Amino acid sequence: PVVRAESSTPEYFPDAKFYKVEAILRPWRIPQVSSALLKMGIRGVTVSDVRGFGSQGGSTERQAGSEFSEDKFLAKVKMEIVVSKEQVEAVIDKIIEEARTGEIGDGKIFLVPISDVIRVRTGERGDKGERMSGGQTDMFSTSEHLQVVDPSGK
Ligand code: ATP
Ligand code: GLN
Repeated sequence: PVVRAESSTPEYFPDAKFYKVEAILRPWRIPQVSSALLKMGIRGVTVSDVRGFGSQGGSTERQAGSEFSEDKFLAKVKMEIVVSKEQVEAVIDKIIEEARTGEIGDGKIFLVPISDVIRVRTGERGDKGERMSGGQTDMFSTSEHLQVVDPSGK
């Protein structure tokens, strides 16, 4: 069955322009999650190999020991994605769609308000700092905007 995050129009608190979607997920689901995010125009993603336990605890998994570790902590991947507020729910729903098995240990998503985004190369802040070329905003920009870069010069 399709599982979605509860309530599609939540009021985040505290209010911010940008949020970090921080997802702790099964390592072997990461390729699937990241390619789906790429397809929807998410270009900026940070992943870290982490170890943790939740209600899954340290019990080994059915999946061929791929998450086995020496102690009670299991190998997980932390995926961090900073997006504008309007993109948060789509990212969350996509992560659930691609990462969910329905078994304990699927992980968790934390939503963190972000004060600002600064691009080191240019010093741009805010919307300009956050926007990625070829990103979701570009993908859904109006035809009027696209004509600006139309090589036919129209
Ligand atoms: P369930 O899988 O039943 O939903 P859960 O999400 O609480 O339970 P796990 O799925 O085992 O527990 O957790 C997956 C990973 O998410 C953990 O290995 C841990 O790294 C991280 N995690 C879960 N809950 C928290 C939390 N409250 N704080 C920090 N990290 C957490
Ligand atoms: N919000 C950005 C854009 O639309 C994408 C952000 C990201 O890829 N993390 O270009």
